[in-house]
Amino acid sequence: MIAPPGAGKGTQGVVLAEHFAIPHIATGDLLRDHVARATEVGRAVKSFLDRGELVPDDVVLQMVRQALEPLKGGEGWILDGVPRTMEQARALYAIAVELGMTADVALHLQVEDAELVRRLLARAQQTGRSDDTEDVIRHRLELYYEVTHPILEWYGERGILVSVDANRPPEAVGRQILTALEVLRQVIDRGPDAERKPVDLTGLGAAFGRRTQG
Ligand code: ADP
Repeated sequence: MIAPPGAGKGTQGVVLAEHFAIPHIATGDLLRDHVARATEVGRAVKSFLDRGELVPDDVVLQMVRQALEPLKGGEGWILDGVPRTMEQARALYAIAVELGMTADVALHLQVEDAELVRRLLARAQQTGRSDDTEDVIRHRLELYYEVTHPILEWYGERGILVSVDANRPPEAVGRQILTALEVLRQVIDRGPDAERKPVDLTGLGAAFGRRTQG
C-alpha cells in the first residue's frame, strides 16, 4: 500500500488482512513498537520518527525481510509503509524476487491534502503520536510527494497499480478496495504472466460512496 500519511493505510490494511486472511505488516507500527520497547533499533530511530524523517533504508529493509521470510510459501502478505523511496522500492523488489514473493498489487489510496491534514490533526488528539503535530505533519506530507509518490509510476509501468479514491468514509473506501481486488484476483490467479494494466478507480467516487440503502 502506497499512500500519504493519514490516507488510511492502517485502517484499510487491517480490513484487507482480515478479508484475505493474510498478515498486515506495517513498518510504522513495527518501528513504534521498537521505540516503545526501547530496543537498539528503537533507540536509533526514535528521533527520525519524532521529526517525521525517514529512518535509514537498511533498518527498514532488514525489518521487512525478517517479517517476510517466515511467510514464504504462504497465502500472501500486505505491506504498509514501505517502500517509501525509489531506492527502497528497488531493494524491496530484489528481496521479494529472492524470496519468490513479489507483489501482485500496488494499492494506492488517493486523498486530498486538506482532508489528510484534518484526519491527522484529529488523530493527534486521540493517539498522541509524537509525529502528529502540525509542523511535522506538513513535513511528512512534503516528503511523501517528493520521494514516495513518484514510485507509483514504476508500479504503473509494471501493470500492478490500483488507485482508489480514499477521501470518503472508511467503509466506503474498504468496499471499493475489496471489490477491485476480488475482481483482480481472478486475473492474478491465472498466473504471473497474465497481461496486466493499471486500474484507476479514483473517478468512481459516488458509485461506492453511498451507504447501502434499505
Ligand atoms: P504515516 O504514513 O502516517 O507517516 P507510518 O506509521 O507509516 O505513518 O510511519 C511513521 C514513521 O515511521 C515515518 O514518518 C518514518 O519516520 C518511519 N517509517 C515508516 N516506514 C518507513 C520506511 N519505509 N522508510 C523510512 N522510514 C519509515
